[in-house]
Amino acid sequence: MVLRKKTEIGMINPSAKRPPGAIALQQFPALPLSYGAEGLRFEQVDLSELAGEFGTPLYVYSGPYILSALASYQNALGEDGEVFFAVKACSNIWILRLIQEAGAGADIVSLGELRRAQAAGFTGSQIVFSGVGKTKQEMQAALQADLRFLVIESAAELKMLEEVARVEGRVARISVRVNPDIAADTHPYIATGLGSHKFGVPAAEVLSLYRFASESPHLEPVAIGFHIGSQILSGSAHLAAAERILALADRLRAELDLSVKYLDAGGGLGISYDEKLSPHPASFIESLRPVLRGGLKWIVEPGRSICGNAGVLLTRVLYRKTNGKKDFIICDAAMNDLLRPALYQAEHRILAVREVKEELRADLVGPVCESGDFLARDRLLPAVDSGDLLALLSAGAYGFAMSSNYNSRLRPAEVLIDGPNYRLIRQRETFEDLLGPELRCGPG
Ligand SMILES: *Cc1c(COP(=O)(O)O)cnc(C)c1O
Repeated sequence: MVLRKKTEIGMINPSAKRPPGAIALQQFPALPLSYGAEGLRFEQVDLSELAGEFGTPLYVYSGPYILSALASYQNALGEDGEVFFAVKACSNIWILRLIQEAGAGADIVSLGELRRAQAAGFTGSQIVFSGVGKTKQEMQAALQADLRFLVIESAAELKMLEEVARVEGRVARISVRVNPDIAADTHPYIATGLGSHKFGVPAAEVLSLYRFASESPHLEPVAIGFHIGSQILSGSAHLAAAERILALADRLRAELDLSVKYLDAGGGLGISYDEKLSPHPASFIESLRPVLRGGLKWIVEPGRSICGNAGVLLTRVLYRKTNGKKDFIICDAAMNDLLRPALYQAEHRILAVREVKEELRADLVGPVCESGDFLARDRLLPAVDSGDLLALLSAGAYGFAMSSNYNSRLRPAEVLIDGPNYRLIRQRETFEDLLGPELRCGPG
């Protein structure tokens, strides 16, 4: 399984006829994984070698795979739009730099992510600021950094931004995130486009926000957009949302004489976590093309579909045990390292690094003191033993980014692979990292 640099993952037939919003499916995780003499290899690197050098648990990412997924979006959009990578999916500075150098922008949701994006080399105009609750301090920093635009999610937030911009003596470029009241077919925790969700502004309120913005010398409306959720595997909800938002853009033109420049379609395209087929970014963009009109430029904010399949979590088996009814494989990674199984009942594919033919029905669990601490539940797993290594696939998005120090565990190291080469891009945390913020406060 060889991956070519600067090319797209797989091929689609762009002229094939499909119903509206349908996306071509294909074996999207054409993952750069194969078995060699030393067991499982990622790109051209033996995972056992990485575990030996950097320890476990360890996150390992393929740079070429990230660039390939990004290129699928960029090539499909061409001159019609731009990609702003959703930093929250995978926030490592050196992965962000890779994405910046490939010509994409960054979609951020906090001041911390702004600092990360800046450290990675993104300029202000390469950054958009999303999120439902931006603080005054975050607005100030965003204005000082001269971002492309801030995404507004309520009338109160817009008023606050106007005030901050007036004090700063600046003009804030804005977009309004419309809540299109559309159900996306995904896990309820990551659906965001329904009227009952906290996200966005109801369509009925949108015009009044743009009226307020266009009347203020400190606000400049430049975009309108939506983001309906994550891990969405069909294009029909995006298409329906885009149609509603375009109708609003038409009304802005007709009723307020206001032409925005960008239509921000958010992120949300899903990936395959198993061996099933999953949607292709180019086909996703193509499915939205029928609603591309009125001279608007597209902005898309993919996260998961850029880096999800580009990362694996490597863990070492500590013990096996059975309680008579059930078998457990206990490994050194836990819910604090990869939260998705506990939070979303996600099922990541799991491969043994040493090729193991025999299978075992078991739970794969970590050392954390919670029954919710499982990485796999009641699954057929390779029948590995103490000391063996396992790779959890598709862990590149919302993996390390959601990790924590729960149970006072040190967060894992991260390694980036480029073909035959690799390098450490985040050191494993130390006890100093863990205790420092408390010890520095002294005994009082
Ligand atoms: C999380 C998020 C994204 C990225 O979602 P993915 O499912 O990872 O593509 C994009 N835009 C906004 C506003 C988000 O909150």
